Amino acid sequence: MELGLTGKVAIVGGSSRGIGKAIALALAQEGCDVVICARGEADLKATAGEIRSQTGTRVLPLVCDMSSYDDIQRLVHETADTFGRIDIVVNNAGGPPVGTFDDFAEEEWQKAVDQNFLSAVRTIREALPYLRRQGGRVINITSVTVKQPIDRLILSNAVRLGVVGMAKTLSREVAKDGITVNNVCPGNIATQRLLSLFEARAQREGRPFQEVLEEEKSGTPTGSLGEPADIAALVVFLASEKARYISGATIQVDGGSTTAVF
Ligand code: NAD
Repeated sequence: MELGLTGKVAIVGGSSRGIGKAIALALAQEGCDVVICARGEADLKATAGEIRSQTGTRVLPLVCDMSSYDDIQRLVHETADTFGRIDIVVNNAGGPPVGTFDDFAEEEWQKAVDQNFLSAVRTIREALPYLRRQGGRVINITSVTVKQPIDRLILSNAVRLGVVGMAKTLSREVAKDGITVNNVCPGNIATQRLLSLFEARAQREGRPFQEVLEEEKSGTPTGSLGEPADIAALVVFLASEKARYISGATIQVDGGSTTAVF
């Protein structure tokens, strides 16, 4: 299938490892120039080198904390200055910490709002003038928690629904500009983030890590965890010309785990 992605320019948030890295690699494999970002320069540069050597496309690594508006402004404007256009924005950052309502004070709530809600709002706000020039794609990486909240993930459960609400309304406002806006919701995807959540649970419950891992796998209809490339495959399709009529959608990639219908 010709996806029409050659020569497009994509910004991928939180992309030195995990889901963001897989998305950046997959877009580069389809011929996009990609801008990757994270807070740590060394990992970011190593990832940029890997993607460049595997794909031969242009990869610009920019140190950026997605919870900082100043950093986001720099990220978007350096992208435009370097490549002259922006076609695709993938909003992604590290997930908020695990815990219940009693565990978090003002500071943690504010951090979750900045990192996992305002990061998307701010990146879109800065990138929209560029996307409007030729049309484009906005894809927000959220979580299955927006369809089915998970206990002890109160920050994720709360803050990510803001992204979905914003995206739905925005998708209707920018459709006339040839821009689509969609949300992708990972289920259990084998990344450092997920494995550290399992490790924390194993310690809390006094159980071996392997036992928790096997329980999580068998709790998924497919009997396995997903891979970051499983998320990337959907993002690439949503970013493509073929997905021009899909907008305002919130799609889970979870091996069938979510029991909710919508
Ligand atoms: P990860 O921790 O493996 O990778 C996160 C990436 O984002 C890294 O490159 C990290 O350096 C970067 N990052 C973190 N905070 C950042 C910040 N403030 N600014 C810039 N870069 C930052 O995480 P992942 O598993 O790839 O998850 C990506 C997103 O998807 C997270 O929001 C996570 O909560 C969500 N999610 C993941 C899963 C899963 O099973 N892995 C499930 C549901 C939702």
